[in-house]
Amino acid sequence: MHASSPLQLAVIGNPVAHSRSPQIHCAFGAQLGIAVDYRKVLAEPGQFARCVDALRARGARGCNVTIPFKQDAFGYCDVASERAARAGAVNTLIFDDAACRGDNTDGVGLLRDLADNLGLPIAGKRILVLGAGGAARGILGPLLSSGPQLVHVANRTASRATSLIAGFAAAGRLAGSGLQDLPEAPFDLIINATAASLDGSFSPLPSTLLRAGGAVYDLVYAEAPTPFLKWGERAGAALAADGLGMLVEQAGESFYLWTGQRPRTREVLNGLRRAAPRRSN
Ligand code: NAP
Repeated sequence: MHASSPLQLAVIGNPVAHSRSPQIHCAFGAQLGIAVDYRKVLAEPGQFARCVDALRARGARGCNVTIPFKQDAFGYCDVASERAARAGAVNTLIFDDAACRGDNTDGVGLLRDLADNLGLPIAGKRILVLGAGGAARGILGPLLSSGPQLVHVANRTASRATSLIAGFAAAGRLAGSGLQDLPEAPFDLIINATAASLDGSFSPLPSTLLRAGGAVYDLVYAEAPTPFLKWGERAGAALAADGLGMLVEQAGESFYLWTGQRPRTREVLNGLRRAAPRRSN
Protein backbone atom coordinates (compact mmCIF):
# COMPACT_ATOMS: atom_id res chain seq x y z
CA MET A 1 0.00 0.00 0.00
CA HIS A 2 1.27 3.47 -0.84
CA ALA A 3 1.44 6.07 1.92
CA SER A 4 -1.00 8.92 1.26
CA SER A 5 1.64 11.58 0.75
CA PRO A 6 4.25 10.71 -1.89
CA LEU A 7 7.96 10.94 -1.21
CA GLN A 8 9.08 14.14 -2.94
CA LEU A 9 12.36 13.88 -4.82
CA ALA A 10 14.03 15.66 -7.75
CA VAL A 11 17.11 15.93 -9.94
CA ILE A 12 18.68 19.36 -10.45
CA GLY A 13 20.91 19.97 -13.47
CA ASN A 14 21.48 21.88 -16.69
CA PRO A 15 20.71 20.25 -19.08
CA VAL A 16 18.31 17.90 -17.31
CA ALA A 17 15.62 17.09 -19.90
CA HIS A 18 17.45 13.87 -20.95
CA SER A 19 17.51 12.50 -17.38
CA ARG A 20 15.97 9.06 -16.80
CA SER A 21 16.16 9.41 -13.03
CA PRO A 22 12.39 10.04 -12.56
CA GLN A 23 11.57 6.76 -14.35
CA ILE A 24 14.17 4.84 -12.31
CA HIS A 25 13.14 6.17 -8.89
CA CYS A 26 9.44 5.66 -9.64
CA ALA A 27 10.27 2.04 -10.56
CA PHE A 28 12.14 1.63 -7.24
CA GLY A 29 9.13 3.08 -5.41
CA ALA A 30 6.76 0.69 -7.21
CA GLN A 31 8.97 -2.29 -6.19
CA LEU A 32 8.96 -1.26 -2.53
CA GLY A 33 5.41 0.12 -2.19
CA ILE A 34 6.57 3.73 -1.76
CA ALA A 35 4.70 6.44 -3.71
CA VAL A 36 7.27 8.70 -5.35
CA ASP A 37 6.89 12.18 -6.87
CA TYR A 38 10.26 12.73 -8.66
CA ARG A 39 10.70 15.90 -10.76
CA LYS A 40 13.33 17.33 -13.10
CA VAL A 41 14.50 20.82 -12.10
CA LEU A 42 16.41 22.91 -14.65
CA ALA A 43 18.63 25.36 -12.75
CA GLU A 44 20.14 28.35 -14.50
CA PRO A 45 23.78 29.18 -13.69
CA GLY A 46 23.99 30.80 -10.25
CA GLN A 47 20.51 29.52 -9.27
CA PHE A 48 21.47 26.13 -7.76
CA ALA A 49 21.06 27.11 -4.08
CA ARG A 50 17.75 28.86 -4.77
CA CYS A 51 16.39 25.72 -6.47
CA VAL A 52 17.45 23.48 -3.55
CA ASP A 53 15.94 25.92 -1.02
CA ALA A 54 12.64 25.76 -2.94
CA LEU A 55 12.63 21.94 -2.83
CA ARG A 56 13.26 21.97 0.93
CA ALA A 57 10.51 24.53 1.45
CA ARG A 58 7.97 22.27 -0.25
CA GLY A 59 8.92 19.28 1.94
CA ALA A 60 11.13 17.22 -0.37
CA ARG A 61 13.13 14.34 1.17
CA GLY A 62 16.16 15.07 -1.00
CA CYS A 63 17.45 15.42 -4.54
CA ASN A 64 20.01 14.19 -7.00
CA VAL A 65 22.45 16.66 -8.50
CA THR A 66 23.84 16.37 -12.01
CA ILE A 67 26.00 18.29 -14.46
CA PRO A 68 27.30 20.99 -13.76
CA PHE A 69 26.33 21.44 -10.09
CA LYS A 70 28.05 18.64 -8.13
CA GLN A 71 30.69 20.94 -6.70
CA ASP A 72 28.04 23.58 -5.86
CA ALA A 73 26.13 20.84 -4.01
CA PHE A 74 29.25 20.00 -2.01
CA GLY A 75 29.47 23.67 -1.02
CA TYR A 76 25.73 23.78 -0.19
CA CYS A 77 25.39 20.83 2.20
CA ASP A 78 25.89 21.25 5.96
CA VAL A 79 27.66 17.91 6.34
CA ALA A 80 29.27 15.69 3.70
CA SER A 81 29.90 11.92 3.83
CA GLU A 82 33.52 10.77 3.74
CA ARG A 83 33.29 9.69 0.08
CA ALA A 84 31.72 13.03 -0.92
CA ALA A 85 34.35 14.98 1.01
CA ARG A 86 37.11 13.01 -0.71
CA ALA A 87 35.57 13.74 -4.10
CA GLY A 88 34.72 17.37 -3.29
CA ALA A 89 31.50 16.64 -5.20
CA VAL A 90 27.96 15.67 -4.15
CA ASN A 91 25.34 13.94 -6.31
CA THR A 92 22.81 13.23 -3.55
CA LEU A 93 21.37 15.69 -1.03
CA ILE A 94 19.36 14.38 1.92
CA PHE A 95 17.10 16.89 3.66
CA ASP A 96 16.82 16.11 7.37
CA ASP A 97 14.77 18.29 9.72
CA ALA A 98 17.39 20.94 10.39
CA ALA A 99 20.37 20.04 8.24
CA CYS A 100 21.19 19.03 4.70
CA ARG A 101 23.53 16.05 4.23
CA GLY A 102 25.55 15.49 1.05
CA ASP A 103 26.79 12.18 -0.36
CA ASN A 104 28.29 10.88 -3.58
CA THR A 105 26.95 7.60 -4.97
CA ASP A 106 28.58 7.82 -8.44
CA GLY A 107 31.65 5.76 -7.51
CA VAL A 108 29.76 2.93 -5.84
CA GLY A 109 27.31 2.98 -8.77
CA LEU A 110 30.10 2.56 -11.34
CA LEU A 111 31.84 -0.18 -9.35
CA ARG A 112 28.62 -2.15 -8.87
CA ASP A 113 27.88 -1.94 -12.58
CA LEU A 114 31.40 -3.02 -13.54
CA ALA A 115 31.62 -5.84 -10.99
CA ASP A 116 28.04 -7.11 -10.58
CA ASN A 117 26.38 -6.37 -13.93
CA LEU A 118 29.33 -6.59 -16.36
CA GLY A 119 31.66 -8.99 -14.52
CA LEU A 120 34.68 -6.69 -15.01
CA PRO A 121 37.15 -6.77 -12.12
CA ILE A 122 39.35 -3.69 -11.48
CA ALA A 123 42.15 -5.29 -9.45
CA GLY A 124 45.49 -5.28 -11.27
CA LYS A 125 44.13 -3.35 -14.29
CA ARG A 126 45.61 -0.31 -16.06
CA ILE A 127 42.78 2.22 -16.21
CA LEU A 128 42.47 5.48 -18.14
CA VAL A 129 39.83 7.98 -16.97
CA LEU A 130 39.01 10.73 -19.49
CA GLY A 131 37.72 13.90 -17.75
CA ALA A 132 38.33 15.66 -14.45
CA GLY A 133 34.88 17.11 -13.68
CA GLY A 134 32.36 16.18 -11.01
CA ALA A 135 31.86 12.62 -12.28
CA ALA A 136 35.60 11.86 -12.43
CA ARG A 137 35.96 13.23 -8.89
CA GLY A 138 33.25 10.85 -7.67
CA ILE A 139 34.64 7.69 -9.26
CA LEU A 140 38.35 8.14 -8.59
CA GLY A 141 38.43 7.20 -4.88
CA PRO A 142 36.29 4.03 -5.26
CA LEU A 143 38.31 2.95 -8.35
CA LEU A 144 41.59 3.35 -6.46
CA SER A 145 40.19 1.38 -3.51
CA SER A 146 39.59 -1.59 -5.85
CA GLY A 147 43.33 -2.22 -6.35
CA PRO A 148 44.09 -1.26 -9.98
CA GLN A 149 47.70 -1.36 -11.17
CA LEU A 150 47.44 2.29 -12.31
CA VAL A 151 44.79 4.98 -12.85
CA HIS A 152 45.72 7.72 -15.33
CA VAL A 153 43.41 10.77 -15.47
CA ALA A 154 43.53 12.74 -18.75
CA ASN A 155 41.56 15.93 -19.26
CA ARG A 156 41.09 18.54 -22.00
CA THR A 157 42.30 21.13 -19.48
CA ALA A 158 45.46 19.40 -18.21
CA SER A 159 45.72 21.52 -15.03
CA ARG A 160 42.36 20.18 -13.81
CA ALA A 161 43.65 16.59 -14.15
CA THR A 162 46.80 17.34 -12.17
CA SER A 163 44.97 19.20 -9.42
CA LEU A 164 42.39 16.39 -9.18
CA ILE A 165 45.01 13.66 -8.73
CA ALA A 166 46.90 15.75 -6.17
CA GLY A 167 43.96 15.21 -3.78
CA PHE A 168 44.21 11.41 -4.15
CA ALA A 169 48.01 11.03 -4.11
CA ALA A 170 48.03 8.72 -1.09
CA ALA A 171 45.27 6.43 -2.40
CA GLY A 172 47.12 4.43 -5.07
CA ARG A 173 49.24 4.57 -8.23
CA LEU A 174 47.94 7.60 -10.05
CA ALA A 175 49.04 9.88 -12.91
CA GLY A 176 47.51 12.81 -14.77
CA SER A 177 47.94 14.68 -18.05
CA GLY A 178 46.24 16.56 -20.85
CA LEU A 179 44.48 14.60 -23.64
CA GLN A 180 47.40 15.36 -25.98
CA ASP A 181 49.97 13.93 -23.60
CA LEU A 182 48.87 10.33 -22.99
CA PRO A 183 51.25 7.47 -22.11
CA GLU A 184 52.08 4.92 -24.81
CA ALA A 185 51.51 1.66 -22.89
CA PRO A 186 47.94 0.44 -23.57
CA PHE A 187 45.12 0.42 -20.99
CA ASP A 188 42.85 -2.51 -20.05
CA LEU A 189 39.87 -0.25 -19.38
CA ILE A 190 39.16 3.28 -20.67
CA ILE A 191 36.36 5.18 -18.94
CA ASN A 192 34.90 8.29 -20.58
CA ALA A 193 33.86 10.66 -17.78
CA THR A 194 33.78 13.76 -20.02
CA ALA A 195 30.65 15.49 -21.21
CA ALA A 196 31.90 15.20 -24.83
CA SER A 197 29.43 12.41 -25.68
CA LEU A 198 26.49 14.61 -24.67
CA ASP A 199 27.06 17.01 -27.58
CA GLY A 200 28.79 14.52 -29.90
CA SER A 201 32.12 16.40 -29.77
CA PHE A 202 34.36 13.42 -28.79
CA SER A 203 37.69 13.47 -30.69
CA PRO A 204 39.04 9.99 -31.52
CA LEU A 205 42.13 8.79 -29.61
CA PRO A 206 45.01 6.64 -30.95
CA SER A 207 43.70 3.07 -31.21
CA THR A 208 46.94 1.79 -29.60
CA LEU A 209 45.70 3.29 -26.31
CA LEU A 210 43.42 0.27 -25.71
CA ARG A 211 44.84 -3.20 -25.11
CA ALA A 212 43.44 -5.70 -27.64
CA GLY A 213 40.39 -7.27 -26.00
CA GLY A 214 40.18 -4.48 -23.40
CA ALA A 215 37.02 -2.64 -22.34
CA VAL A 216 35.55 0.83 -22.85
CA TYR A 217 32.88 2.39 -20.65
CA ASP A 218 31.06 5.67 -21.35
CA LEU A 219 29.38 7.29 -18.34
CA VAL A 220 26.92 8.81 -20.80
CA TYR A 221 23.91 6.68 -21.75
CA ALA A 222 22.14 7.01 -25.08
CA GLU A 223 19.89 4.96 -27.33
CA ALA A 224 22.66 4.60 -29.93
CA PRO A 225 26.34 3.89 -29.15
CA THR A 226 28.20 7.14 -28.39
CA PRO A 227 31.14 8.25 -30.60
CA PHE A 228 33.45 7.15 -27.75
CA LEU A 229 31.98 3.62 -27.68
CA LYS A 230 32.18 3.40 -31.48
CA TRP A 231 35.84 4.42 -31.25
CA GLY A 232 36.41 1.69 -28.63
CA GLU A 233 34.82 -0.97 -30.82
CA ARG A 234 37.02 0.08 -33.76
CA ALA A 235 40.05 -0.05 -31.43
CA GLY A 236 39.30 -3.73 -30.61
CA ALA A 237 37.33 -3.54 -27.34
CA ALA A 238 35.82 -6.85 -26.25
CA LEU A 239 33.31 -4.94 -24.09
CA ALA A 240 31.75 -1.52 -24.80
CA ALA A 241 29.23 -0.41 -22.17
CA ASP A 242 27.26 2.78 -21.67
CA GLY A 243 26.47 4.38 -18.30
CA LEU A 244 22.87 3.19 -17.91
CA GLY A 245 23.93 0.49 -15.43
CA MET A 246 25.89 3.03 -13.39
CA LEU A 247 22.92 5.39 -13.49
CA VAL A 248 20.62 2.73 -12.05
CA GLU A 249 23.17 1.57 -9.45
CA GLN A 250 23.99 5.09 -8.21
CA ALA A 251 20.25 5.79 -8.08
CA GLY A 252 19.73 2.64 -5.99
CA GLU A 253 22.25 3.89 -3.46
CA SER A 254 20.61 7.36 -3.36
CA PHE A 255 17.20 5.75 -2.87
CA TYR A 256 18.64 3.78 0.05
CA LEU A 257 19.99 7.00 1.60
CA TRP A 258 16.54 8.62 1.38
CA THR A 259 14.42 5.66 2.50
CA GLY A 260 16.64 3.08 4.24
CA GLN A 261 15.38 0.49 1.71
CA ARG A 262 17.42 -1.15 -1.07
CA PRO A 263 15.66 -1.52 -4.42
CA ARG A 264 16.33 -4.45 -6.77
CA THR A 265 18.45 -2.48 -9.23
CA ARG A 266 19.19 -5.28 -11.73
CA GLU A 267 15.45 -5.76 -12.29
CA VAL A 268 15.00 -2.05 -13.09
CA LEU A 269 18.07 -1.99 -15.37
CA ASN A 270 16.78 -5.00 -17.32
CA GLY A 271 13.37 -3.31 -17.65
CA LEU A 272 14.95 -0.13 -19.05
CA ARG A 273 17.08 -2.10 -21.52
CA ARG A 274 14.03 -4.07 -22.68
CA ALA A 275 11.96 -0.88 -23.09
CA ALA A 276 14.63 0.86 -25.19
CA PRO A 277 17.02 -1.69 -26.72
CA ARG A 278 20.22 0.01 -27.88
CA ARG A 279 20.43 0.63 -31.60
CA SER A 280 23.67 -0.43 -33.25
CA ASN A 281 24.35 3.03 -34.67
P1 NAP B 1 31.40 18.38 -15.47
O1 NAP B 1 31.74 18.49 -14.04
O2 NAP B 1 30.79 19.53 -16.17
O3 NAP B 1 32.79 18.00 -16.23
C1 NAP B 1 32.81 17.88 -17.63
C2 NAP B 1 34.12 17.21 -18.05
O4 NAP B 1 34.03 16.93 -19.45
C3 NAP B 1 35.36 18.06 -17.84
O5 NAP B 1 36.45 17.21 -17.56
C4 NAP B 1 35.52 18.73 -19.23
O6 NAP B 1 36.85 19.12 -19.51
C5 NAP B 1 35.13 17.58 -20.13
N1 NAP B 1 34.64 17.99 -21.44
C6 NAP B 1 33.51 18.66 -21.74
N2 NAP B 1 33.38 18.80 -23.08
C7 NAP B 1 34.47 18.19 -23.63
C8 NAP B 1 34.90 17.98 -24.96
N3 NAP B 1 34.21 18.45 -25.99
N4 NAP B 1 36.04 17.28 -25.17
C9 NAP B 1 36.76 16.81 -24.12
N5 NAP B 1 36.40 16.98 -22.82
C10 NAP B 1 35.26 17.65 -22.59
O7 NAP B 1 30.45 17.13 -15.75
P2 NAP B 1 30.37 15.77 -14.91
O8 NAP B 1 29.40 15.92 -13.80
O9 NAP B 1 31.76 15.34 -14.61
O10 NAP B 1 29.70 14.76 -15.97
C11 NAP B 1 30.45 14.23 -17.06
C12 NAP B 1 29.57 13.25 -17.85
O11 NAP B 1 29.32 12.08 -17.08
C13 NAP B 1 28.23 13.84 -18.21
O12 NAP B 1 27.99 13.51 -19.56
C14 NAP B 1 27.26 13.14 -17.29
O13 NAP B 1 25.98 13.03 -17.88
C15 NAP B 1 27.92 11.79 -17.13
N6 NAP B 1 27.56 11.12 -15.84
C16 NAP B 1 26.89 9.93 -15.89
C17 NAP B 1 26.60 9.28 -14.70
C18 NAP B 1 25.89 7.96 -14.72
O14 NAP B 1 25.33 7.56 -13.69
N7 NAP B 1 25.87 7.24 -15.83
C19 NAP B 1 26.94 9.82 -13.47
C20 NAP B 1 27.64 11.02 -13.46
C21 NAP B 1 27.93 11.67 -14.66
P3 NAP B 1 37.41 20.57 -19.07
O15 NAP B 1 37.85 20.43 -17.63
O16 NAP B 1 38.56 20.80 -19.99
O17 NAP B 1 36.29 21.55 -19.24
